[in-house]
Amino acid sequence: MAQLDTRQKLEILADAAKYDASCASSGTAKRNSRDGKGLGSTEGMGICHAYAPDGRCISLLKILLTNSCIFDCHYCINRKSSNVRRARFTADEVVKLTIAFYKRNYIEGLFLSSGIIRSSNYTMEQMVEVARALREDHHFRGYIHLKTIPDADPELVRLAGLYADRVSINVELPTAGGLKRLAPEKDGARIEGAMADVKSSIIDTRDAAKRYKSAPRFAPAGQSTQMIVGADAATDRDIVSRASTLYDRFQLRRVYYSAFSPIPDASAVLPLQRPPLMREHRLYQSDWLMRFYEYQPHEVVAAADDATGMLPLDIDPKLAWALKFRQHFPVDVNRAPRELLLRVPGLGVKAVNGILASRRWRRLRLDDVARLTVSVAKLRPFIVTEDWRPVILSDRADLKTLVVPKKKKEQLELFAA
Ligand code: SF4
Repeated sequence: MAQLDTRQKLEILADAAKYDASCASSGTAKRNSRDGKGLGSTEGMGICHAYAPDGRCISLLKILLTNSCIFDCHYCINRKSSNVRRARFTADEVVKLTIAFYKRNYIEGLFLSSGIIRSSNYTMEQMVEVARALREDHHFRGYIHLKTIPDADPELVRLAGLYADRVSINVELPTAGGLKRLAPEKDGARIEGAMADVKSSIIDTRDAAKRYKSAPRFAPAGQSTQMIVGADAATDRDIVSRASTLYDRFQLRRVYYSAFSPIPDASAVLPLQRPPLMREHRLYQSDWLMRFYEYQPHEVVAAADDATGMLPLDIDPKLAWALKFRQHFPVDVNRAPRELLLRVPGLGVKAVNGILASRRWRRLRLDDVARLTVSVAKLRPFIVTEDWRPVILSDRADLKTLVVPKKKKEQLELFAA
């Protein structure tokens, strides 16, 4: 490996970390100020944003310890057979960078992942050492998110959780078949075993904290995982079902979805084109339906096309569900329980809370609902108010064309409060 200075390593290892979506802010237009005009860039790597457990948006230094790897996962730019420039930080270099950036007020925490060097345990030891040194030698109180390494010793993963706020391990692909085909060296059962261990440690330390004030904290921001979308033949139905199983079994805080992006010198087994970014967005929306809108996984899955198993791209899954299961509408905003109000396309959680609070004092009219939403015109076919009943609208065969604006820009925002 060529001798590189810290700036060169940072350039390579921050860029290599961009494929991890766990704290990404992707999907915006490309802009930069390299021509000397203007300020800022939307393409720079290295600092990303994440949400702390208390809801604050924080900036994280997002890097890999190394982009060298002994594994050869087909979808990964850092795989053994890839022809990319390699770099490697020492644990001490990562610690120094984190502290230096923190003192300059550039970041509030660290997101550290890595390719596998020598062995899973050796790599995990290096990552734990970064977190240990930050916490114990430098008394760093900022946020730390560590990606755990597949197959690392459970004791090392336990240590990672004692130092980090969040630990995560990527399941990578939604199906066992996909993992076997595209990441043959990874073992799905062992990945799930590691997730189960993390879950047990989180529960144990939470219980201990109730009894002893001095009980150590373990990953207080929980664990998360990531699935790559569009690298294999898994349908949205497969992905939603898998995500729901993961939430149930391992009490994950988040499942992240990362649209597969073609990489240089890609393996022949990969698709040539990336899936539409909108697919990733729809999966995040379906995730929200399960986490905040009280939908059961089988209901979200039912919003997908029966033949293809894919969620529609032109409308969000909540609207797709409402159009498919019209027998549940219209919903009377003056009488319906919270769970039915949450089903109304165009009503977000905040708006539903507003309706529930207001209707204790008076019967709501269409104007009252309009004040709580972005566009009442779009939700009229789905609600009944004191002065409104959509007798004809909800039965119309062309209802979709009435509620979905022609221009993409005007797309109905169903999760708006
Ligand atoms: S183990 Fe991780 S870094 Fe290595 S090739 Fe697989 S996905 Fe890439």
